[in-house]
Amino acid sequence: MPDLNLILLGPPGSGKGTQGERLQEDLELPYYATGDILRAAVKEGTEVGQTAREYMERGDLVPDEVIIGVIAERLGDSPAGHGFILDGFPRTVPQAEALDAELDKLGRQLEAVILIDVSDDEIIRRITGRRVCADGGHIYHVEFSPPETEGVCDIDGSELVVRDDDRPEVVRNRLDQYHEKTAPLVSYYEKQALLNRVDGSADPDQVAESIRSLVSTLSLEEG
Ligand code: AMP
Repeated sequence: MPDLNLILLGPPGSGKGTQGERLQEDLELPYYATGDILRAAVKEGTEVGQTAREYMERGDLVPDEVIIGVIAERLGDSPAGHGFILDGFPRTVPQAEALDAELDKLGRQLEAVILIDVSDDEIIRRITGRRVCADGGHIYHVEFSPPETEGVCDIDGSELVVRDDDRPEVVRNRLDQYHEKTAPLVSYYEKQALLNRVDGSADPDQVAESIRSLVSTLSLEEG
């Protein structure tokens, strides 16, 4: 399998996390979800976590320099040496430019950006039903993918909770931030001929299938 450096792009609640986990299993590539990394940092009380906390609680983006440092550190790591999947990064044009510069330094390049397209109305419906497991971050939905036992994670048995930033008023702000700061990345990557759109309103199995076929085409082209 050739190196694959992939980005998952899409609004909050578009299914990046669910699809990223599946893709990681399929491709056995390191998977870096900046939201998960930051939530872990907040929980551990690291310096990055202390800075990020207030931004995350409001549904604002953390400053570019903080998150760029976090990602640069991981891309330099050896496990990312054969490719990676990025979820939730980049989220601004300066972050995308920093990523390009970082990859340049490492003599690598992006193979594809996968945009998971979902309307705002659908996102609000999804996020308000989303539950995550307190320990492992595994994702459920009260309507679309409920756990076997209500309120309990199927995988590790821990409690399922509503993320603080999944509260409706915070979700609205996260969507505004997406449209204002992240959506410009669509044309940024279109110009580099890297953008691939996937209809994210379909059910998760269908979305996974679309992504799988896209990635296998890419692997053939790269191979
Ligand atoms: P997510 O789980 O990807 O929705 O991320 C949760 C929160 O983490 C976001 O609302 C931001 O506050 C923060 N965050 C995650 N990734 C980034 C990023 N690339 N740039 C800035 N903030 C981020």
